[in-house]
Amino acid sequence: MEPILEVKGLRKSFKDFTLQDISFSLPRGFIMGLIGPNGSGKSTTIKLIMNLMRKEAGEIRVCGLDTHRHELAVKQKIGFVYDENHFYDELTVLEMKKIVAPFYREWDEEAFTYYVHRFQLPVRKKIKELSKGNKMKFALTVALSHHAELIIMDEPTAGLDPVMRSELLEVLGELIQDERKGVLFSTHITTDLDKVADYIAMINEGRVLFSVAKDTLQETCGLVKGGKSQLTPEVKDRLIGLREGSFGFEGLTTNRKQMQDLLGEQGIIERPTLEEIMVYLVRGYRDADVGS
Ligand code: ADP
Ligand code: MG
Repeated sequence: MEPILEVKGLRKSFKDFTLQDISFSLPRGFIMGLIGPNGSGKSTTIKLIMNLMRKEAGEIRVCGLDTHRHELAVKQKIGFVYDENHFYDELTVLEMKKIVAPFYREWDEEAFTYYVHRFQLPVRKKIKELSKGNKMKFALTVALSHHAELIIMDEPTAGLDPVMRSELLEVLGELIQDERKGVLFSTHITTDLDKVADYIAMINEGRVLFSVAKDTLQETCGLVKGGKSQLTPEVKDRLIGLREGSFGFEGLTTNRKQMQDLLGEQGIIERPTLEEIMVYLVRGYRDADVGS
């Protein structure tokens, strides 16, 4: 089966920022996390996928359909949760539902009712009176009520308390029990991804640094720690985001095996968290910029 989402060579420039060579692909049945520091281009990438912004180059396919040529069909297949409220503030939850439902050919009233209860959404309250968490839950409820195959969310967990965050992640986990579905969500809270993501794509300064299975990432990357005597020129050359102190050194390797061979028996290489991988890579990127 074709991937649920395929992005190739995406490009978009603003006055002070260029998003370029954005390519990644998400197979059905999996969750992909899009990570990267603030301003790295996550929301822009998502807006381009959603056709909310015009791309300058590249190709995007959802369920095998070109999102430009088949815009309407693709919109039916995507459940979208935006990072800001895009509903009418003055309407109640039920009133708003009546407006959005007709846009979807496969609107499922039963699914809507199910999620409203599950999330305990106060349906008679105006959108503007909902808490941030409830606004997100309402957006998610709509996204899950029209048999979308691909769920796309921009920073859905930002500003949510831990209970709501884990509730959201639980729903996503359940969703992809259906192997035809897929989820793409951006976040800078990497612990969300430790829990549910199967694939990670990382963007930094408008480019994809990597897009791989989370397990592969954590197997190939390693956090290297050692004393000064172990920091030979070969080791130094290969470490990313290296920091030296009186204690010794710390850095990231993206080739654990090679590094272990270089360091020998005494070398300590730990399994990095996603957060550490992100921090070291961004740091390494900046160090390289400063050096050049
Ligand atoms: P992220 O979601 O990763 O925080 P964004 O995609 O929102 O990053 O933004 C990436 C960069 O593009 C930022 O420097 C931002 O200021 C810039 N940018 C985003 N949208 C616009 C726009 N409509 N006009 C000009 N610059 C923009
Ligand atoms: Mg953003």
